[in-house]
Amino acid sequence: MTDKTYDNYVKEMQRIADLGYATALLNWDKEVNMPSKGAGIRTRQVATLSGLAHERFTGDSFSSIIKELSGRKNDFPQQQKRNIELTAKRHDRATKFSTEFVERNSRAVSEAYMAWLKAREANDYSVFKNALGNLIEIRKEEAEIIGYENHPYEAHLDQFEPGGTVPHLDELFKDVKEQLVKFVKELREKEQVEFEFLHHHYDKDKQWDFGIEVLKLMHYDFDAGRQDLSPHPFTTNFAPTDVRVTTRIHEDNFGSMTWSCIHEGGHALYEQGLPLDQYGLPVGSAVSLGIHESQSRLWENNVGRSLPFWKAHYGLAQKYFPENLGSKTAEQFYKAINKVEPSLIRVESDELNYHFHILIRYEIEKGLMEGTYSVEGLDQVWNAKYKEYLGVEVPDDKRGILQDIHWAYGSIGYFPTYSLGSFYAAQFFRQAEKDIPGLVGQIEEGNTSNLLTWLRENIHRHGSLYSADELCKRITGESLNFKYFMEYAKKKYEGIYG
Ligand SMILES: [Zn+2]
Repeated sequence: MTDKTYDNYVKEMQRIADLGYATALLNWDKEVNMPSKGAGIRTRQVATLSGLAHERFTGDSFSSIIKELSGRKNDFPQQQKRNIELTAKRHDRATKFSTEFVERNSRAVSEAYMAWLKAREANDYSVFKNALGNLIEIRKEEAEIIGYENHPYEAHLDQFEPGGTVPHLDELFKDVKEQLVKFVKELREKEQVEFEFLHHHYDKDKQWDFGIEVLKLMHYDFDAGRQDLSPHPFTTNFAPTDVRVTTRIHEDNFGSMTWSCIHEGGHALYEQGLPLDQYGLPVGSAVSLGIHESQSRLWENNVGRSLPFWKAHYGLAQKYFPENLGSKTAEQFYKAINKVEPSLIRVESDELNYHFHILIRYEIEKGLMEGTYSVEGLDQVWNAKYKEYLGVEVPDDKRGILQDIHWAYGSIGYFPTYSLGSFYAAQFFRQAEKDIPGLVGQIEEGNTSNLLTWLRENIHRHGSLYSADELCKRITGESLNFKYFMEYAKKKYEGIYG
């Protein structure tokens, strides 16, 4: 259907997207290539482009286009209607805040970030406490301005997981607390698997080449992407035809590069599979961070840490690293890469204990937003929860409450999407096994192309056409349910630990 106003809307959205992706390219370059002296001017360049995009998006001309289209959105077919709705929602959010609030917020964020750096240096939470408290007050104020259904936390969650609710998260994390905590405690009693050989010397160049081969095995399209090195691995995209990943290499750790490669590769496959004809429009982009994370976790854990995958590819790993892996079998390797052991640091966690790290952050964030926790004594709350859920003593703040940057950036509501990703991945993978006869056998033969086709068909090509919950119901017949993750965990880890 052609409609003059809608056509203008598309043109304007694509111009705004061009500015956004040019900004993303500058940011990618900052992480990957930029010489250190470039930082000052780069910050300015990024701010200018972001400002231009924001002005265009919130300016009178675009605002009146959105208003007009919203008024008659029901006259449009599904895809166009969805674009209008999602844009109107984003527009509403972007125009709700006074300049005074925006400036106060950005000051509070930069103060919190500086305080967090100092606190880490001093290894002392009390240095961060007041700046964090200030930021939490602003987040509470923000939640009231934005509005929410059940709980102020939802106003923030919605930015990352549109449609996500506190009752649903509470239900999922209740299962984590009741089922997973108990299961992992049982595993702790078992004899630990042998894993030291993963921490011998793994040559940097060989790791790099091996990582590229693994991405090719996953069908990551190198004509629509590239891999580079950066201290913190990430995926960035400028269109489905240009989706880039980065990795890091530690020579004393086989896993660091390998899992970041597969993880980011999973994110990138999603972006490469989004509908190009919807460039710059909501439907052309990912539906939520939880769904995005489901794609990285599915490849990383359900495929990349599975025995069938390594039955197919362990020979390749041995070819690259004969001195470390030559004398180990695929089964020994499989057990080693799935070692379960509680850790203090979230990003170093195994795939089960990981969810306790998220549970703790979720409980604290929610408590801060509703006022049942305050920043006063929050380090003690943190440490007590680590003791309760992971059974570890937190020795200091750096390895405790100060470890993540998210709060220092003012991000509340982001953490749960990591767990949602794993839970969605388990549910999707279970469905893929039903829909693709012999899927596990195919993976064992080194064939993941049917799996990718299934992901493309069911998830990638839809972009944001459906909400995360609608998508999950369409694919699996029900909303996200923790039981699939628990089934996956039990089957896998009972096999490994006996
Ligand atoms: Zn990720």
